[in-house]
Amino acid sequence: MAITRTLSIIKPDATRRNLTGQVTKMLEDAGLRVVASKRIRMTREQAEGFYAVHRERPFFHDLVAFMTSGPVVVQVLEGEDAVATNRRVMGATNPAEAAPGTIRRELAESIEANTVHGSDSDANAAIEIAFFFRPEEIVG
Ligand code: ATP
Ligand code: MG
Repeated sequence: MAITRTLSIIKPDATRRNLTGQVTKMLEDAGLRVVASKRIRMTREQAEGFYAVHRERPFFHDLVAFMTSGPVVVQVLEGEDAVATNRRVMGATNPAEAAPGTIRRELAESIEANTVHGSDSDANAAIEIAFFFRPEEIVG
């Protein structure tokens, strides 16, 4: 397996509860390395663009409202098969269905306020990383 990169977002439910460090530690303990990080308040335009694939879903409007409701921490994570490694430690989208020990099982509040985002493929990781970071902001 190759060393690859993925995009992580620590969502507003986590920054509100001061869990940035705890989430980051769980990512690091899973073997991922933070090679870029910044705390931002997403604009509505950014959130709508980022989640454009979900535009037709019934939860889209609420999701955009939630993602813009407070600060988020966007991070580039690097490691062995980073997309899959990250999604494993994140757990299932719905915390009620997430495995014990995963970030969402241990920390998420609900299926919407589920603490973290992670890219779902290498192709989408590249698109999502470029959405938030210039190449020189990523230091591996
Ligand atoms: P993410 O893309 O955030 O890493 P995911 O890939 O597990 O999560 P997606 O299906 O891509 O899940 O959904 C994106 C986000 O939309 C979810 O993380 C969650 O915040 C929200 N979401 C998904 N399904 C629902 C739902 N049924 N009701 C409310 N919000 C939802
Ligand atoms: Mg997704």
